[in-house]
Parts: sequence; C-alpha cells; structure tokens
Amino acid sequence: MNTQKIIDKIIKTSQGSIDELVNILHFDCDAYLFSVANQLRKSYCGDEIHLRAIIEFSNHCRCDCSYCGINKQNTTLDRYRMRPEEIIDYAKKAYLTGYRTIVLQSGEDPWYTTEKISYILQEIKKFGDIAITLSIGERDYDTYKQWKLDGADRFLIKHETADEALYNSLHPHSSFKNRMKCLKNLKELGYQIGSGFMIGLPGQTLKTLAKDILLLKELDVDMAGIGPFIPHPKTKLQNHPVGSCYLTLKALALTRILLKSPYLPTTTSLEVTNIKDRKNAFYTGANVIMRKVQPYKYRKLYEIYPNSTIHEKSIKEERKEVEDYIKLIGRKVSTTRGDSIKK
Ligand code: SAM
Repeated sequence: MNTQKIIDKIIKTSQGSIDELVNILHFDCDAYLFSVANQLRKSYCGDEIHLRAIIEFSNHCRCDCSYCGINKQNTTLDRYRMRPEEIIDYAKKAYLTGYRTIVLQSGEDPWYTTEKISYILQEIKKFGDIAITLSIGERDYDTYKQWKLDGADRFLIKHETADEALYNSLHPHSSFKNRMKCLKNLKELGYQIGSGFMIGLPGQTLKTLAKDILLLKELDVDMAGIGPFIPHPKTKLQNHPVGSCYLTLKALALTRILLKSPYLPTTTSLEVTNIKDRKNAFYTGANVIMRKVQPYKYRKLYEIYPNSTIHEKSIKEERKEVEDYIKLIGRKVSTTRGDSIKK
C-alpha cells in the first residue's frame, strides 16, 4: 500500500499498525499528511485555538531525569518556590485577562504537600468557571483522588517515551511501570488526562515514535504534548543533538489523524527550536497554545532547556500578542474552558 492509502485507511478506521505508522514517518508524504490533519482538526475541534495560562511555580525537583535542566543534580541553578498565595494571585491575574484554564506545573517538589495543593485548588476554583490542569509529577492514588475532589479537572504527565528500557535509563529515580500506573489511576479518578513524548531522545527510532503515538491512542488521552528534545548543558544529554522539528510536526499530524479529537498544543520546545514550526503546527493539527504567567524572575529560572524566547512582557501584552496572531491566521480565540471533546 502506498503512504497516501495508509493515511486514508488510518483516518477511516482510527487504527494503525507500528509498520504503517513507521511508513508514514519515514516517507515524504507531508503535504498530504499535514493537509488531512488540518482538515480533521477543523471538523473535530473547530477553528478555535485554546489559550492556557501556565504557572511554573517551583523548579525544585527530586527527580534525576537525564534530559531535564531542573534535575536534582544541577547544583548551579537558583531554585525558587512560589508561595501558595502568590500562585493564587497570579492565577487570578490570568483569569482576569481572559484565561479559562490554569496549568499548575512544577518539578516534583514534596514541599507542596497534598494539603497545600488542595488549598491552592480550592482558592482558584472560587474565581468562577475555570479549569485547572495539574502537572506536578508522580504521586499516590489517594493524593490524586483528594485533588480531584478539590477541583482539579485535568492532569498532564507525559509518558516521555514508549520504550520501557529507554524510559528507565533516562529516569533512574522511577520507572515506566509507575508512570503508566499514574496515568491509569488519573483516568480511573475521572481526570481529563494528558500524556506526550519527546522527539530526538538517544536510541529512539521511528518505531519508538510509532509506539509513542499508539500509546497515546491506547491511553485514550484527552490531550497530548509532543515536542523536540532540546539539550541542556547541565544534564547527562548535554552533547546529544536537538530533536527534529519536521518529525515533530509529522508526529503531531499523525496523532491527529489517529486519535481525532485530543487537544494538541504547539509546544514551547517547538517555538524555542524554530518559531516558524511552532506556527506551522497550527496547520498540522494543533489547537492549543500555552503562555507562562508567573513573574518574569521565575520564568527565567524554570529552565528545563535553554530558552531564549522568554521576554519581560505583562500577562496582558502576551495574551494580546497571541490573540492577534490567532486572528491573523484566520482562526478564533476560544473563550471557553476547552474541556475534553470526548466528554
Ligand atoms: N514534573 C512534572 C512531570 O514530570 O510531569 C512536570 C514538569 S516536567 C519539567 C515538564 C516536561 O518538560 C516533561 O514532561 C518533559 O517532556 C519536558 N522536558 C524536560 N526537559 C526537556 C528537554 N531537555 N527538552 C524537551 N522537553 C523537555
């Protein structure tokens, strides 16, 4: 079967084999793939682009991820923690600027106990109709359960790579099995779940990427973040090359045609590697963009990879800039929370 036929078959059946996905990732079929992914984005999700405010509230981390600049071994990084009141205050600023989803992200930082996160969730929920996504790593079932009761709507915890051996070698502090368990627990508790992976990890092949996309399908995710790996000088992978933006766009498009309705952000790592490709992602299946809203002094310190795109702009200025861009490309700015379309 030629590549175009395989794409048509996947669109029709929402099923694909590893070999079929590898074929698409390998062969030059991007014009067709991107165009059908864009059409499917339009028919399943519409023309709205969802803006999410992200507060990266702590760069303390107990983990030792080989790729991540805030890993615990990096002793050169100035560490910060936002106080609960400060987090709530910035979430309020974002809400008043028009954001209807707040993503609370951090390193895995046990200083934020179950109770502290519960308090933050309850206070943010008092603002009005606002969705909260947590992205704070691995915790036990009862903790996730409590946060769901306190008002958390979604949880983003990427599987990073579907290759179990590779996952375990990159994450000596944890395991692929535990990551999967967390995702399963979150789903069972009724969260809208987000997973995702990096493109360009050492030892990764097109077959691994095919498995990554199929795993998103198996997990039945509501959202998925797919971005290129970017080397950070204070990590074990400092000399490993940056991941391919082109392959990132193909993986994004393939995820759109296989899964149809998930929220797919154009990731910050895509912007850092190539702003043009971040914009292109809106034509290859993406329908979400996130904006950092914590104070500038903290934005610079949340350095998971070197990022020269951080500017000292106000929350309002940044939002206006993105809104203008969305309108310029003929799309609409969503004014809703942007909950899972499946639900
Ligand atoms: N601690 C939480 C967790 O593990 O889910 C959330 C924070 S973690 C820093 C957020 C994401 O950053 C990870 O899921 C990973 O995909 C991404 N990331 C970290 N280092 C990266 C790098 N060097 N290049 C690209 N993405 C990276």
